[in-house]
Amino acid sequence: MDKLIYLDNNATTKVDEKVLEEMLPYLKEEYANPSSMYDFAKKSSNALKVARRQVQEFVGAENEKEIIFTSCGSESANTAIKGVLANNKTKRHIITTAVEHPCVLNLYKQYEKQGYKVDYIGVNAQGELNLDELKDKITDETALVSVMWANNETGIIFPVEKIAEIVKEKNPHTTFYVDAVQAAGKIPMNVKNTKIDMIGISGHKFHAPKGIGALYVKSGTIISPLINGGHQERGRRAGTENVPYIVGLGKAAELALNSLDYELKEVKRLRDKLEQGIVKNIFNARLNTAPTNRVPNTTNIGFQYIEGELILLHLSDIGICASSGSACTSGSLEPSHVLRAMGIPFTALHGSIRFSLSRFTKEEEIDYVIEKMPQIIEKLNKISPYQDELEALKNLK
Ligand code: PLP
Repeated sequence: MDKLIYLDNNATTKVDEKVLEEMLPYLKEEYANPSSMYDFAKKSSNALKVARRQVQEFVGAENEKEIIFTSCGSESANTAIKGVLANNKTKRHIITTAVEHPCVLNLYKQYEKQGYKVDYIGVNAQGELNLDELKDKITDETALVSVMWANNETGIIFPVEKIAEIVKEKNPHTTFYVDAVQAAGKIPMNVKNTKIDMIGISGHKFHAPKGIGALYVKSGTIISPLINGGHQERGRRAGTENVPYIVGLGKAAELALNSLDYELKEVKRLRDKLEQGIVKNIFNARLNTAPTNRVPNTTNIGFQYIEGELILLHLSDIGICASSGSACTSGSLEPSHVLRAMGIPFTALHGSIRFSLSRFTKEEEIDYVIEKMPQIIEKLNKISPYQDELEALKNLK
């Protein structure tokens, strides 16, 4: 392919060259098991310590012992949720939100089948949670509250620090888990100053490779391990440590922390330019997400009366990678549960496109997308079965 404009960084990111360089020695010559006693293993075990400290700093944890390495964001969520519930079998009430990632929602469906009561807090049109409703639902029976920090489809940020206060005030014994997979590297995180008990992150969302993640567990929070076996990760996650990938995660965390200002200013500027360039120039485009209170790299735009998948195919033809708001479940195209929860009109649901940038996104790439989008949409408008509705919408603008 000649041109590649990658605007799907919430799905995954490219591995930073500096991360790869840091990993390579541990894939080649430094292959010792970090638990071994001989001198040859010292470099591996030291590398683990460095990476743990880098991740500790990245999430703003008090202590490096609070960091557990996992294989991905889904494992972090499963470890946290199953670990808390297995340790607290008498309390069978969970509170979460209607817009969580499937790695959390599908897990809760399993718990419902086992007789747990799960409350799903809804969002308004701006994607905001009803915090009073959340507070009212917390009882003595609530074992766990879990809320994502930033949404993968819309980028909307939930006030997790404030939610942690609400949870602990109402029931200090309730554990609060935060899925921080889409917040990591995009907004500041400083868990030591909060009442959050656990957060999960995933390396491949911030320029580490796929197959590595981490879970922060505040000191004093007890979880049963998901994977039993050896003593690794202080008995909380067995299995010989994946040293090269852990080294990569640590380096990616350090780089992401150093790039945070750039992310908050420059990536946001490019995202806003893209968003405005599309919404202003295309009459049937509408913003599907909150204008503010979002991670800096994400936008979600609905193109009314046309199919998102067709837009993606046309974008792909000219080398542009984005993603549709729909998830392909068991062969049928289901509109996004996140956009539906926000009450996005049916006319825009099916034509929703998420663009997600990174620190590697260039201005000329954004200019190219702004130039090409109106041509693609005009072409698709012509074959839409909703000609009268499109005409009415055009006259309205
Ligand atoms: N949570 C959120 C919000 C996500 O966006 C994702 C991945 O897209 C995950 C969890 C799962 O992460 P992983 O793919 O590393 O398992």
